[in-house]
Amino acid sequence: MNRQLLVTLAVLGSQLLGTFALRANEAHLLQCGHCAMMARLHARQLAAAEQGKAPQNSYAPDRFVDVAHLKIDVTPNFKERSLAATAVLDFAPIAKPLKQWHLNATGLDIRQVTSSHAIQATQSTDTHLEITFRDPIPTGEDARVTITYNATPKKGLYFRTAEMGYPASDTQLWTQGEPEDHQHWFPSHDYPNEKFTTEVICRIPAGMEALSNGRLLSQKKDKDTGLVAFHWFQDKVHVNYLVTLLAGYFVKMEDKHGELPVALYVPPSEKDQLANTFRDTIKILDYFEREIGVPYPWDKYYNACAIDYMWGGMENTSLTTLTTRTLFTDATENLRSSRGLDAHEVAHQWFGDLVTCRDWSHLWLNEGFA
Ligand SMILES: [Zn+2]
Repeated sequence: MNRQLLVTLAVLGSQLLGTFALRANEAHLLQCGHCAMMARLHARQLAAAEQGKAPQNSYAPDRFVDVAHLKIDVTPNFKERSLAATAVLDFAPIAKPLKQWHLNATGLDIRQVTSSHAIQATQSTDTHLEITFRDPIPTGEDARVTITYNATPKKGLYFRTAEMGYPASDTQLWTQGEPEDHQHWFPSHDYPNEKFTTEVICRIPAGMEALSNGRLLSQKKDKDTGLVAFHWFQDKVHVNYLVTLLAGYFVKMEDKHGELPVALYVPPSEKDQLANTFRDTIKILDYFEREIGVPYPWDKYYNACAIDYMWGGMENTSLTTLTTRTLFTDATENLRSSRGLDAHEVAHQWFGDLVTCRDWSHLWLNEGFA
């Protein structure tokens, strides 16, 4: 097929897809994060076709190590909208011995790097942390790096505080990883072609609550700092972009689907709207379990509403982020519903979370099934 015809077909196809995408957007104004990503990728393909360039794909880079576990310990400073943190990565080189490891780390102020294996040098650029080991780490050998850093994230982690004009009683922070924004608040292999278990510890003032993936191992107050440490553990592997953290003041509604804890968390000012948005979640879980034939795969299913969240929702493993715009009062009950968004994000717990596309060029698979 000649190039001009190919470009013409690509543009026509894109416009056709664009028409469908527009209709889909009109029908579902509260987009899932994946849907928004698809729209962005589609726009990029269209722009490339219009410029006569080959379509661009978003392939993940080669893996040089197998990451086994990521542990992040975060102390946020809500007033300064910054954080002090430590990230521990357990890994083993694959294919060949590892002399140097490049981690995504955008805008992080790296204070210290230690390792189970002697480090020759570290270098921090605007976007990466490069760790050079004295001796190459043999293939298959277990290794660990511990990175202490500070961050004032411009992406990936967002504060909503009284200093910014929000009610102090609604103070919160939330994160959004997809596609590759978590590197603004913790160092990692920030691509979807690597799965590992995770632990998130968040130290916050008493009265606040911190939510993350998996199950809550402990909630302890430190006598010296007065901060309460929430320790979450995700013991089934998942990908970097599905790591999540929300912290702040919330009110919640809880229930159970069999033994599975199910909950919805909202900012305190939205408490009167909890019940409307929560009412279908268990029915949706029940329906998908029966239809898919695979039991719900994670330790819990929580939804949590983030103030000014940019999309409709994001299916982070076991803890979906939802926009507060999905909440509605009884007065608007006949006009609005959270059902479509709720069902879409629950479906992603299987399609996208349990089974994940290797890179963004296959994102349509996540979205097609959900
Ligand atoms: Zn989606």
